Amino acid sequence: MPTVAIVGAGVAGLGAAYRLRETDAEVIVFERRESVGGRAATRRRNGCTVDVGANYCKDGDDRVARLLREELSDGLVEADGPVWTFDADGEISEGRGDDGSKWTYREGLAALGDRLRAASDAAVRTGTEVTGLARDGDRWRVETRDVGGSVDGDGDGATVRADAVVLTPPGPTTADLLADSELGDDGLRSTLVEAASAVPYRTILSVALGYGDRIEAPYYALVNADKGHDLGWVAREECKPGHVPDGESVLVVQPAPEWSRRRYDDTDDELAAAAAERAADLLDDTARERFDWAEVVRWREALPDAGADREALDRGADAGLFFAGDWVVGEGRLHAALASGLDAGDRVDADR
Ligand SMILES: Cc1cc2nc3c(=O)[nH]c(=O)nc-3n(C[C@H](O)[C@H](O)[C@H](O)COP(=O)(O)OP(=O)(O)OC[C@H]3O[C@@H](n4cnc5c(N)ncnc54)[C@H](O)[C@@H]3O)c2cc1C
Repeated sequence: MPTVAIVGAGVAGLGAAYRLRETDAEVIVFERRESVGGRAATRRRNGCTVDVGANYCKDGDDRVARLLREELSDGLVEADGPVWTFDADGEISEGRGDDGSKWTYREGLAALGDRLRAASDAAVRTGTEVTGLARDGDRWRVETRDVGGSVDGDGDGATVRADAVVLTPPGPTTADLLADSELGDDGLRSTLVEAASAVPYRTILSVALGYGDRIEAPYYALVNADKGHDLGWVAREECKPGHVPDGESVLVVQPAPEWSRRRYDDTDDELAAAAAERAADLLDDTARERFDWAEVVRWREALPDAGADREALDRGADAGLFFAGDWVVGEGRLHAALASGLDAGDRVDADR
């Protein structure tokens, strides 16, 4: 039985694992964090459920939409209300033409990772970082390091042998991993490292602000259309069924990439205060400067700004190396990342 090692348990990695569930391959997914889902991340705080990475999943890919509506539909809910826009001066206007489905789960978007994990039947080793790959005959040695309380890992420094490897961390992280690997072909390694490292990423901070009263507004979220404002996105988490108790509100404030990069190392308190001040100004509601609690999450590699050179990445296939993730397809969206994982599963299956 062939073994497939998947690096990363975001939706791309778990999508590949899900696609391979009915094959005879033994699939092992390595995830350095303690939880799965990657940037589909949810925090719980003061009785609230908050999507602090991706805000929702769109129905932009037929295969993904079907999967969500059918096998992964348990607890699936839609954010209620439209997305409106604002400009550099904070002028709010109605509509942006993005009125398709905006899916999340009652327990938050991280449940998408949990559902995929459960449906995939793969062995998922959380708290386990892949530190390098080494060619071993026509197989791969996957070197790992225990970075936390691994659920079913082998402990420190375990090595797993695999016939194929699917790499899904963001491009620059994948490039670092390949640079530390022995692929047995220096030309291939430099081609792959170059392709993965060339993908530029935007940095985005995500600040959740909790309030003991309900914010009334005709929209679910506001997006900055002209990219000229300090804030990129402000959403009302209470528009998602089951996320916020009645009579309360949670604003998810995501500053623009430039602001996020500049203030990345500020303290959580400073970031929360600054985000609340900007949000209050935008909503023209000074009460929003005083929040009850805040959660700050920093995403250094938040969204790819371009796609990778696919032809270059495809050169890994002959050696059993495959790639998936939003950076591979050049679209920083959950449905695109998940579709890319399913496609990688197709290619691994066809290659055997
Ligand atoms: C702030 C923000 C807002 C967003 N908003 C939206 C939105 O509203 N709608 C939407 O569709 N998309 C949105 N996105 C984009 C979406 O979240 C991503 O496109 C998608 O989650 C990418 O999935 P992925 O599997 O490719 O990568 P990831 O989710 O990044 O998964 C990669 C995984 O690899 C793991 N990993 C990395 N290195 C290693 C290693 N060496 N060993 C083991 N594991 C490793 C990481 O921990 C991670 O779990 C947003 C993203 C951010 C950050």
